[in-house]
Amino acid sequence: MNNFLRISKKVLILQKDLEVKSNIEFNEYAQKMTLKFYKLNKLDNEMEISALSIIVEAIRREEGYIAFPVQIIGALTLLNGNIAEMKTGEGKTITAIIALYLGYLKNHHQILFTQNQYLAKRDYEFSRPIFKRLNIPSGLVEELDKNSDQKFSFKMKERQALYDNPIVYTTNDVFGFDYLQSNLVSQSEEKLNLHFDWAIIDEIDSILLDDAQMPLIISGNPKAQSNLFKITNNFVSLLDPLRDYQMDNRKKTVWLTERGVQKANKFFRVENLFSENNFELVKHVMLALQANTIMKLGDDYIVTDGEIKLLDSTTGRIMEGSLFESGLHQAIEAKEFVSLSKENRSMASVTYQNLFRMFNQLSGLTGTAYTNRKEFLEIYNLRVDRIPENIKSVRKDLKDHYTVSLSNKLEQIMKRTMELIEAGRPVLLVTESIFTANIYSNFFWSRNISHNVLTGSQIANEAEIIKMAGKKSTLTIATIIAGRGTDIKIDKEVQEIGGLAVIATEHFSSKRIDNQVRGRSGRQGESGTTEFFVSLEDKIFEDFYVKGIDRISNKKTVKLNFFQKEYIKHKIKQIQTKFEEEDYKNRFNSMEMDETLRVQREIIYHERDSIINQNQFSHRHFVELLKGYAKDIVDNENYDKTRFIFDFIDESYSIDDQINIEEEINDRFNYVQNLLDQYPDAFEEFINQILLKSIDTEWVLHVDRMQQLRLLIDKRVTGQKNPLQEYQEDSQRLYKFFRKSVNKAILKNFMLSRLEVKNNLKVTFP
Ligand code: ADP
Ligand code: MG
Repeated sequence: MNNFLRISKKVLILQKDLEVKSNIEFNEYAQKMTLKFYKLNKLDNEMEISALSIIVEAIRREEGYIAFPVQIIGALTLLNGNIAEMKTGEGKTITAIIALYLGYLKNHHQILFTQNQYLAKRDYEFSRPIFKRLNIPSGLVEELDKNSDQKFSFKMKERQALYDNPIVYTTNDVFGFDYLQSNLVSQSEEKLNLHFDWAIIDEIDSILLDDAQMPLIISGNPKAQSNLFKITNNFVSLLDPLRDYQMDNRKKTVWLTERGVQKANKFFRVENLFSENNFELVKHVMLALQANTIMKLGDDYIVTDGEIKLLDSTTGRIMEGSLFESGLHQAIEAKEFVSLSKENRSMASVTYQNLFRMFNQLSGLTGTAYTNRKEFLEIYNLRVDRIPENIKSVRKDLKDHYTVSLSNKLEQIMKRTMELIEAGRPVLLVTESIFTANIYSNFFWSRNISHNVLTGSQIANEAEIIKMAGKKSTLTIATIIAGRGTDIKIDKEVQEIGGLAVIATEHFSSKRIDNQVRGRSGRQGESGTTEFFVSLEDKIFEDFYVKGIDRISNKKTVKLNFFQKEYIKHKIKQIQTKFEEEDYKNRFNSMEMDETLRVQREIIYHERDSIINQNQFSHRHFVELLKGYAKDIVDNENYDKTRFIFDFIDESYSIDDQINIEEEINDRFNYVQNLLDQYPDAFEEFINQILLKSIDTEWVLHVDRMQQLRLLIDKRVTGQKNPLQEYQEDSQRLYKFFRKSVNKAILKNFMLSRLEVKNNLKVTFP
């Protein structure tokens, strides 16, 4: 770090010298040096300092200000593949630009990930003129426009060109979906070639901790509708809460008690609900339970026009087009008595955790990573470096306020907010969820106090509200994550009367999120205050029962004494630590589970790639392979031979026919070869199509089974085994089953598909 500080000082001295150059002179010099460094590809210290001075000067010419030493230090930290912890308002956008430039000189291909499209576009547009001045192409990849009438393969060419820019701005989910999609296509011109070289993630904790486990899923292929949704919904409505099932609100899980299981056995007339052949039934019971207990109308979803629409719990946004995990959606539809929609299969899925672990190098920026440094190191091999503040913060973090009841707390918050607003201070009131944000909003409306509500439902509008949030006597109610990435600016007048006041309506589930909330105030050495309000009826105590807290609460005292307050303070810390440990464990398990699928996926995607890109098969070898598959099925699967021939070899087979399987395969082979002989490459093309079709069809089924296994294991609380181990064992079995199914499909598709050749080859699969 000291070394970085020295470097940054030298950089700023060199940069001063560049200021005297005319624009034309500077551009010419900067472009020449950039090209030279790029070709050299390896910079010594002196060159690095010279390169840094060029980018800093380019930024100055475009933006009118000179990078702070801490921004240069931050950039060097990123270049080393670490996380730079820099508070909100320290200028992470510029820090990233400097790092991207250095990465470019090292011939990296790099992607800067932001949390949403608005930020990606904002930062891309901000940086483009700077890079342009240095002759470096950069690109912005946005969500694919599904309504455009361009041909898909043409769009893919354009998209590929954007991704091929050495510097790319995009979001994690755009990239994630492109990754999944590109591995599902069968033609090489539609396949995106993504670069997994260097990823810089802005607000990295939000992506790799908060959203880590959320899988991106591409689904399709409606499967046969299950009729179990309604009946399991009926069953669940007969259950007695607590006695028949129990739940953990925070983890959003619910499970049957022994008594509940007995009831289910009776209701569904099965001997043991949890035996292996009741896989589907158990799944549906669990889904119905979840739909009826955990999922709340108005909070998790709404019903409009006979359809269930998801709400994002922190932002309250309707998530158009997204569905709950496989089956849950239908379970909720059954609960709300709307018609059941088609169930989708997951065709491909990946979590952010694994997506980002695929990069050669990973770096990140955030104001709050230090509390989770152990996890970053263990899971991503990322070190967290705390970059000093440019100007020391003078923000005051005030003492917590404690009350017994929620209604007392509301009154206190109201009083305090009014006090601050009357003094001219802007107030940011931060709540845990959209749900609580609305409670406070209604509360303030009922007293005729005008305010803005920031829930993240309209991201672009959010920037407008944030701009207002630093103005004199403005009240803004926001959820924890809303507006993250856009900093609240205050003017001189506000600065003089104490800056932005942050009021948190409760303590959140981790110290990291508490810090995130505090960090909204007091940027760049500005004044500001933060304070938290606690009541014994807060969610944090509801989620985690503490006897002592309950005792204080039961006394119905209005005023808490010193010792009680100290006790509460201590308990909150303890609960947060406990949650943090639990979250860490969950993320770790989830990563391991994902890893299993990832390894399988990589093998399959690799096989697909080699099929798409090269079509040279030894014909002899292929025939032998088919014979092997046939033998394997006959020998090991205890298939009735007649049935087997019927299903795989010859649909017009009659029992009396004398048949030799190997000869049949030879005959078919000769037939196909003769038919396709006159067309160049047609035979290879045929085999190609068969292989891809077989792999793809079976892979989709496999991913779906894996996804279900995961849900099931998450909810299976009975067994004593460790869930991870259980998952791995079961997934091995499923994988073997999948490989066999692919072989079977290849055999079947080869023997039974119909071929037509006119202008090109057309295969109709059985
Ligand atoms: P962060 O992402 O760290 O919260 P931003 O990159 O959004 O911060 O920058 C916050 C504000 O500070 C922006 O308005 C930006 O233009 C300004 N800023 C960044 N770097 C500098 C600098 N070196 N000098 C003056 N202002 C700066
Ligand atoms: Mg930022």
